[in-house]
Amino acid sequence: MAIAFTEDQIAIQEGVREFAHSRVLPRAAEIDRTDIFPRDLWQEMAAHGLFGVPFPEEYGGLGAGYVAYVLAVEELVRASMSVGVLVSVQGLAQEAILRFGTEEQKQRYLKPLVQGEKIGCFAFTEAGTGSDPKALMTRWVRDGQQYVLAGTKTFITHATVADAGVIFAKGADGKVSAFIVEAGSPGWQPGRQEDKLGLHGTGTAELVLDDVRVPAHNLLGREGDGFRILLQTISVGKLAVAAQGVGISQAALDASVRYARERTAYGKPIAQFQTTQWLIAEMAARLEAARWLTYRTAQLLEDGTDISRAAAQCKLFSSRAAVQTSSDAMQIHGAYSYSKDYVVERLYRDAKITEIYEGTSEIQRVIIANALLRE
Ligand SMILES: Cc1cc2nc3c(=O)[nH]c(=O)nc-3n(C[C@H](O)[C@H](O)[C@H](O)COP(=O)(O)OP(=O)(O)OC[C@H]3O[C@@H](n4cnc5c(N)ncnc54)[C@H](O)[C@@H]3O)c2cc1C
Repeated sequence: MAIAFTEDQIAIQEGVREFAHSRVLPRAAEIDRTDIFPRDLWQEMAAHGLFGVPFPEEYGGLGAGYVAYVLAVEELVRASMSVGVLVSVQGLAQEAILRFGTEEQKQRYLKPLVQGEKIGCFAFTEAGTGSDPKALMTRWVRDGQQYVLAGTKTFITHATVADAGVIFAKGADGKVSAFIVEAGSPGWQPGRQEDKLGLHGTGTAELVLDDVRVPAHNLLGREGDGFRILLQTISVGKLAVAAQGVGISQAALDASVRYARERTAYGKPIAQFQTTQWLIAEMAARLEAARWLTYRTAQLLEDGTDISRAAAQCKLFSSRAAVQTSSDAMQIHGAYSYSKDYVVERLYRDAKITEIYEGTSEIQRVIIANALLRE
């Protein structure tokens, strides 16, 4: 399988790079410092079509496919991980509705999400589990033409700002179902924003569902489809996390090359020390491997291939690369890496989450090994 970018993909990559450089980069440190959701930037991103890159034109998207999508996420994250994550998380709710929604659900929810008029969230995790669907405690019961949802979700990105969410809950038979829930519904109660290590400004919070009534036509797929919806949607989510890893690694390498040329020790630039060169060479090699694995997985998805193993592999590799590369960048920057005046400090804090959310690295290894040992 060869990857040669199309003219449209190159145009999207260059357009998002320019937007990220001129509009996102100047805001990155402020978003990190204040931890405030950047609503004005969200609106600018919506106007540029950034929430619609892979989604069909009939729902307001660009219909540009998943390779263009990972290129866009990578470029945004290179400027600000938090801003790139806004697109990825919106993408989770969108992807679930695109794959499993009825035409009416797509018109009512997918379209405004794709156009950035509404903010979406995707709520699976609870205090008791982020890895095991069987351990979910949020419950649904059917009551006439409505479902009633009760439970508490934790660490939900966009929870403080969302207009709607795709919510996972368990029925009396133990099977998981997914529902589209509007934020204005009585009983929808976002909690206090989490005080996190990184990924600031993304509105991560607990989400209490206190007997929230959902119209029966807001069930996504059929009753009991929740696990399938989760797995398929999360595969695309993992691909986006891999693209986040690539964006972080590229930003870490950029900063390190710049710094190594400028900083002197023992009367010469530290770039002339072989130890610095080794670190930079290792960073570059890891970055390129993560990048092409991510592009290839995006191309497989575009070709209609099941990417459950491929997405696990590229997330596992790219997230590890981002953590290692941002750590190497800290080493190259010496004491200045520890200062908030230098970007590598933020990259180091933001990188770690890629190994945790949308399935931890351990869970990715389980998925990969199970798939191979079954074959
Ligand atoms: C900033 C942030 C944003 C997030 N956004 C969202 C969101 O928008 N929506 C959402 O639903 N969730 C979100 N999450 C939650 C995230 O997806 C979960 O935290 C993650 O899946 C891990 O779940 P856990 O914390 O319950 O870990 P646990 O499942 O408790 O795992 C703890 C440890 O045990 C290991 N482990 C667990 N099971 C196994 C196993 N079977 N085999 C081997 N090792 C295992 C794990 O790898 C990990 O090392 C977010 C989290 C953060 C921090």
